[in-house]
Amino acid sequence: MSHTDMNKLDTLPYYSGPLGFELKGNETIFRLWAPTAKEVTLNLYKDGLFSTAYKEAYLDRYQDGHWEVRIGENLEGTYYDFIISTHDREYQSIDPYAVTSGANGKRAMVLDLKKTDPEGWAEDKAPKREAEDIIYEIHVKDFTYQKFSGISNRARGKFIALTEKDTHLTFDDTFPTGISYLKSLGITHVQLMPIFDYGSVDEMGSDDEFNWGYDPENYNVPEGSYSTDAEKGEVRVRELKEMIKALHESGLRVIMDVVYNHTYRLDSPLFRIEPWYFYRRNRDGSASNGSGCGNDIASERPMVHRYILDSVLYWAREYHIDGFRFDLMGLIDTRLMNDIRENLDRLYGKDEKLIYGEPWAAGGTAVKEGFQLADKNAMTLLSNGIGAFSDSTRDLIKGSNFDSRSTGFVNGGAVEMNLLRHAVAGWMNGDWHFRTQTANQTIQYVSSHDDWTLWDKLKFTCDDKEDFLILDEKTVKANKAAAAMYFTMQGRPFMLSGEEAARSKIGVKNSYNTPLFINRFDWTRTKDAKELVEYYKGLIALRKKMKAFTDKSEKAIERIKEFTLPYKKTALITLDNSGSNNYSTLLLIYTNEDKRIELSLDGEYDLILDPECSNRLSSPIKVKDSLKLDAPAVYLLGC
Ligand code: CA
Repeated sequence: MSHTDMNKLDTLPYYSGPLGFELKGNETIFRLWAPTAKEVTLNLYKDGLFSTAYKEAYLDRYQDGHWEVRIGENLEGTYYDFIISTHDREYQSIDPYAVTSGANGKRAMVLDLKKTDPEGWAEDKAPKREAEDIIYEIHVKDFTYQKFSGISNRARGKFIALTEKDTHLTFDDTFPTGISYLKSLGITHVQLMPIFDYGSVDEMGSDDEFNWGYDPENYNVPEGSYSTDAEKGEVRVRELKEMIKALHESGLRVIMDVVYNHTYRLDSPLFRIEPWYFYRRNRDGSASNGSGCGNDIASERPMVHRYILDSVLYWAREYHIDGFRFDLMGLIDTRLMNDIRENLDRLYGKDEKLIYGEPWAAGGTAVKEGFQLADKNAMTLLSNGIGAFSDSTRDLIKGSNFDSRSTGFVNGGAVEMNLLRHAVAGWMNGDWHFRTQTANQTIQYVSSHDDWTLWDKLKFTCDDKEDFLILDEKTVKANKAAAAMYFTMQGRPFMLSGEEAARSKIGVKNSYNTPLFINRFDWTRTKDAKELVEYYKGLIALRKKMKAFTDKSEKAIERIKEFTLPYKKTALITLDNSGSNNYSTLLLIYTNEDKRIELSLDGEYDLILDPECSNRLSSPIKVKDSLKLDAPAVYLLGC
């Protein structure tokens, strides 16, 4: 294809009318946007994968680039796809606006979505927002797969696993699992790794198959391998709704991980309906690859912009999703991100639905000139209601993810101490590392599904033996300090499930397709690492009570009254905690001295957090004039 042809894609007509199927009494209408097609045919099937078409129909072409056909029947339960003929090729494709599909997302299904609503769905609402949003990342299958979870065999690894209430360890009923465990932690939001239909797992294959799911096949269809019947299109839709309803009933909001930056293959439904329109290309005509997955979606093109916006709004409306985490947000243009924010604000209230993403990409991308990407440099161009993961905080605390041996503050690293000042303020007015408008834009974290778990990273740097499963004192101490650091910084805390229970992938870094025995959440650790789990619970509860940490307004930075470095590797931060009903002033100490030191204090304080206990609010220890500091550690005092 020549440059002229590439530029032609930008002149294709914009279409704003309905797309996909529409059930209208005894009529079913099908609409597809495919402006350069010469002919579009609809195929109807009795099932989702195997049978041949029992009926075909031509679609009519319209000036605005869309095609349409009306069938004089209510086709509910019927599967369909399209054949799109261009001047030189013929493509068979599922409808990109499919709401559900048969197995493996090959054929769409006409579905009356209302019929998939579980009982009480119309009344289903997100639980009330708490003083802080604490985000906990899970993978539907890995979190619910292990037998020790006590989740029923029928449900393990499926959406409905998270509808089972009051589950506990099979060998100790005092330890909750599944949804009860989530609730016990005090977290407020569950972030689900991809739940849209992805391509890397055979939905008809063995139960052992596993993948994180960052390989989108159908953006608006739930993943079939999490359904108890992947062949029946309505089942995955109903079961996902059941899961979301159960999470809401348990007081948890639900965030969806969305991967609009690339598709599983370049030869995707989006490519097949309008070749290249949905993708960025390099000057030599090859597919741009800033995602590292072989293709980049051209979010800046008008109909792509519309498609992604439609998709986000669809999940919010149909599935009551409470927030969106954008994978490689640094490949998406700022106009689209801001438009998504504005639309969700208009429909649901300001910042009611959380939006944040990864402000980076795997490489450069061929975005059209004049468009800014939503990366770290764009935080001030983005709405203040769009957040980003702070790898600056992450690396400062535990060291870089690029080198297992690199260290951060809690594992002996020589960090630039002044950066802690920015980290505590959620990088508002930060430096080149990361600069946000307010802490509302900052996701504070030390672990996510990517890279080593926090525990493994700490093992590499704290314990010579590197026996990942042993809970040694030194690594536990570093882990507690790491957690206490980001839980005492402004911004929104985020954690990978199991971080609180010394989760290990036995040193495996990129485990996206490794077997379940490496990826699965090991429920036995919640008992073995009970002390650490309790430490996290204390931090979560403590944070919710401290305005100095939860304030996300422009004024929040003014709460940092003083930042001093009384010793080489000790930061002492005075915080204005007004608006909380406990202490008006907090003294926060991050320390990593090589030997024990005694810090002098002027006056009397309540010690409320130390390496032994993360939450002494109910019975604080009185300290006067000085405090002996262990390291690495975080201390919090109130007065
Ligand atoms: Ca799939």
